Amino acid sequence: MNKKTQDINVSPLLHVYADKPMRRIEGLWRITSLLSAAYSKSAVGKIIVNEGFSLLEAHSGDILLLMPNNAYEVIAQKGYSKDFLRSWSKSKHNSPLLTSEVVKSKKAYYVEDTKDLDPKYVVAKEFIETTGSKSAVLLPLKINRKIIGILQFTFTEPQRFNREDKFFMDTLAYQCAQALERVMAIDDLKKYNRHLQLMNKQKDNFISMASHELKTPLTSMSVYVDVLSRQLKNENSKSVSYLGKIKTQVERLNMLVNDLLDMSRIRTGKLVLHREEIQLDKLVTSFVFDQKEIVTSHKFKVKVVPCVVVGDQLRIYQVMNNFITNAVKYSPVDSLITIKLEKDAQSAIVSITDEGAGISKSDQVNIFDRFYQVSDVQSNGTSGLGMGLFISNQIIKAHGGKVWVQSKPKKGSTFYFTIPLG
Ligand code: ADP
Repeated sequence: MNKKTQDINVSPLLHVYADKPMRRIEGLWRITSLLSAAYSKSAVGKIIVNEGFSLLEAHSGDILLLMPNNAYEVIAQKGYSKDFLRSWSKSKHNSPLLTSEVVKSKKAYYVEDTKDLDPKYVVAKEFIETTGSKSAVLLPLKINRKIIGILQFTFTEPQRFNREDKFFMDTLAYQCAQALERVMAIDDLKKYNRHLQLMNKQKDNFISMASHELKTPLTSMSVYVDVLSRQLKNENSKSVSYLGKIKTQVERLNMLVNDLLDMSRIRTGKLVLHREEIQLDKLVTSFVFDQKEIVTSHKFKVKVVPCVVVGDQLRIYQVMNNFITNAVKYSPVDSLITIKLEKDAQSAIVSITDEGAGISKSDQVNIFDRFYQVSDVQSNGTSGLGMGLFISNQIIKAHGGKVWVQSKPKKGSTFYFTIPLG
């Protein structure tokens, strides 16, 4: 045979020989990229069954997941009749089938020709032949040596599997197991998330119910304390001072319960604003006047410009009150608190500056979150529950304004909020 004849005769054979591994490698690449966009078990199953089976020239098969109740879940199949699928999906991990062998041994099982199958697997032989096949492969789907399922497929004709065939099938099973692990982790996260959302909702409902329940006895306590105070007004006994203490505590409880109710309203989107035109400079001046009456531990300075906004007076008062309460709580006795009202072209800008502990940059990002409190901050008087700034922020957002803070540790803080001009 001369060289030319050799070339003509051998090259088509070489082409056929080299073509199969190439097609398989290309196929595996395609499967990898398709799997990366699959977000459910059935999507993974379909890709493996459609792409993988066609590369193997397999006739039928399926992907089974092991369920905790000793059963299988068929997540994808190809080439099975409905009746066959029905009887097949009822089989258990411990049925006298090859699948049970694979579950037990965690190893692949190759049936090159059903006629050579051990007679103890007569049921398995029947199953394979019912699908019109004479050969089958069962591959364990493993994650960290733990078997999670089986990938199995059948061929219409008897097969001889070489090393390269087995390597390809193992790689396919590996890809399938990896993709399933990823989507099952996503499923678990989704389930966990749904569970958390449910618990969160139950917690919100509980807080809302509990604070409504607390509100009624608190209101009557407050009324009775007022009545008693009026009756004892001219007496100079210890009872009067005790009554004063009870009143302070009842008011504190009332504020906490009101904050809890506001939290529930915000969470359920039920924070309602009663908007009206407000002469904000007057509101700020009278607010500071009230504060000077109540708070004797600090000095106050106020500076305002005339300014009209549209908003809910009580809610804006509540925000200023939260900021002042914090300024008093987190700054030294006798220090100065400055309240300013300025404006630019669009908004009124209210700022409250203290000479207190200040807040680090990392805490500044979080203080407007629910229940956030700086861990090592010193406060005058009683500590709160970390609700004030969150509620204030939400109230101002509902007005179309914004809230922010400028602060340096040990140099004091300035809290700002804006309300669009009316
Ligand atoms: P709290 O009821 O704890 O005061 P807030 O939501 O009003 O809740 O404030 C959240 C946290 O922000 C506070 O616990 C405190 O650590 C910090 N903080 C708020 N205002 C000031 C301030 N003026 N100076 C220093 N820290 C402050």
